[in-house]
Amino acid sequence: MIPTATKTTFADLHLSKPLLRVLAEANYHHPTPIQEELIPHALKGRDVIGQAQTGTGKTASFLLPYLNSWKENGPPGPTALILVPTRELAVQVAEEAKKLCPTHHIKTMAVYGGTRVVSQMKALKDGIDLVVGTPGRVLDLIARGSLHLHGIKYAVLDEADRMLDIGFRPDIEKILRRVPKERQTLLLSATVPDSVMRLTTRYMIDPFHINLCPDEPTVSKIRQTFYTVDQDRKFELLLRVLVKERPRQAIVFCRRKRDADKLFTKLRPKVPRCGAMHGDLQQSQRDRIMAGFRQGKVVVLIATDVVGRGIDVVGISHVINYDLPDDIENYVHRIGRTGRIGNDGVAISFVTPEEGDHLTSIEMQVNRLLEEERMPNFEAYSPRAKKVDPEPKAASPVFGRRSVKKYRRL
Ligand code: AMP
Repeated sequence: MIPTATKTTFADLHLSKPLLRVLAEANYHHPTPIQEELIPHALKGRDVIGQAQTGTGKTASFLLPYLNSWKENGPPGPTALILVPTRELAVQVAEEAKKLCPTHHIKTMAVYGGTRVVSQMKALKDGIDLVVGTPGRVLDLIARGSLHLHGIKYAVLDEADRMLDIGFRPDIEKILRRVPKERQTLLLSATVPDSVMRLTTRYMIDPFHINLCPDEPTVSKIRQTFYTVDQDRKFELLLRVLVKERPRQAIVFCRRKRDADKLFTKLRPKVPRCGAMHGDLQQSQRDRIMAGFRQGKVVVLIATDVVGRGIDVVGISHVINYDLPDDIENYVHRIGRTGRIGNDGVAISFVTPEEGDHLTSIEMQVNRLLEEERMPNFEAYSPRAKKVDPEPKAASPVFGRRSVKKYRRL
């Protein structure tokens, strides 16, 4: 997943001089592997399926071919449409596009729900070349007659697997049916299950398939550990872990929105530079918190899976699974928030004694044993647990291995 810089330069990929200048200014000296593989095929006008995860430079890989071939005095209305699963990703991709624009004549805009539609309608009227949006808002703007797709020549489905998970298939199909057939289509996805394959066969022409997802789905450079801890001792443990680890920036994942809110209320008096993000917050609040996190003003961000995935902030040194994810696949997505672009990262999970089986499933998913850590002078088990029958009901050897410690220590 982590891109190691290649010896190839962007000039080797035959990008235009103005674009090369912008890349140098952005300190992008060598293409990442997905960029090196994808850009030449896309520049030839070919449809491409790119199997790559966030953090590998995939955004620039699909933006650069469009920015390279953009021409002034083209037809009015947008010529590129990028569909993404979340609001945060829409903002992120649009920001990357602005950063890499070789001329200020190229107008980009992120459109997503939760913000006032009127200002987006006005901007579209004034002329936008590249639209990055979530499927719902894109359809809304089409229905209002503000977004016209007849000029689209370049369509991208970013994080296609995630968009389908969220249930965007009908919206995506409605949108793609309105985009002219004579277009180029790129699809980026960490995984290509059957559902994604169906999209590619229906809406892409002879796509070239690039697979840069390693067999082992986790980032090898990330140190993955866990603490065994009772539910009601987690908060104390979190405080200790933050002191011990001194993260540059951390995301703390909770399972539910209300858990994230509760944790935020408890943590804020102790760690003033913390924030919380979940789907119930107003868009303006989410934008403000994300901006603070990107700028490093927020050091600890409490998040749920829905908003956590796709957050790309290079400063994230630690991911803390305050609650294990319900869906094991989300473990991989969560820990992928750290260890970006060659940085080392740390992923720490809090596992209750009852979650031994869950931990085992995660270990099977990532194909490695997570190392257990202990906090010196910290009581991981609440006094109430002492009343529990001291005979552990070990269903499996691993379950026994995890939970037995609790009883031995009492
Ligand atoms: P992405 O996978 O698109 O989310 O990119 C992850 C991060 O890598 C972003 O912060 C990009 O700005 C950065 N990035 C993308 N391409 C390059 C490159 N060739 N060299 C250095 N940084 C890059």
